[in-house]
Amino acid sequence: MKNIFTIDTEDWFHANYEDGLFQNDAAVKSTVEENTEVYLEALERNNATATFFVLGFVAEQHPNLVRKIAQAGHEVASHGYGHQLVYKQSPEAFREDIQRSKKLLEDITGKAVLGYRAPSWSITEESLWALAILQEEGFVYDSSIFPFKNFLYGISGAPRFPFPAVQYHPEATNLLEIPPSTVRVPGMNIPFSGGFYFRALPYPFIHMFAKQVNREGHPVVFYLHPREIDPQQPRLKLSKRDALIHYYGIGACRRKMEHMLRDFACQSMAEYVNQKR
Ligand SMILES: [Zn+2]
Repeated sequence: MKNIFTIDTEDWFHANYEDGLFQNDAAVKSTVEENTEVYLEALERNNATATFFVLGFVAEQHPNLVRKIAQAGHEVASHGYGHQLVYKQSPEAFREDIQRSKKLLEDITGKAVLGYRAPSWSITEESLWALAILQEEGFVYDSSIFPFKNFLYGISGAPRFPFPAVQYHPEATNLLEIPPSTVRVPGMNIPFSGGFYFRALPYPFIHMFAKQVNREGHPVVFYLHPREIDPQQPRLKLSKRDALIHYYGIGACRRKMEHMLRDFACQSMAEYVNQKR
């Protein structure tokens, strides 16, 4: 079974722990190109494809990177434009943000953008209206509802495997929701397949949990960010808790990512969606 690898393609300073943490600023030293290259090389070596949810701000600054991703046969999908939490935006501002990012990416690649992932999984109980807007704006799938709730995101009890988004909004009749992977233990879902959880867990656990998801008949949805394999990146001024979440395990993440790509065949979300249809 092929699994799904996704990379939220944004810069080292795109984080949502507190308001005003950073300003989108083209003058800040960017690391997104060199770090994304690491993923492109690893994917090529392992004969795998992936979905790059590219932030509109990054696409504007680095159009050649977006072209390179598409030319290598990967899917370019949308991570919105400005990396603002969906539940802190008005529906009107959200619509403008996703229109702007979708058009930017489509103009660069000449290909339709099919999928969206919200910054910090910010489609929650408070922002389910976003699902109807995504469908209206021409998206085919969304990957923004985390079936595990914490201080920043998630809907507890949300489905663990791909499901019709109409389950959460009556107007999202044609949108497929593809959640990140979790394993089920009595009473709760445990995340493991990306971000902090992937960095914090020893690789044998990630391997075991991924195999468990495959045994349940589903692809694992892995997700990482360009910055997560870069111990040399500039540091944000964060609280202790947020710094732990943002930087824990950065040193070993590249090796684990490469190990994962060797052990698990991966493809893009669009390829998965096409096979499912
Ligand atoms: Zn992001």
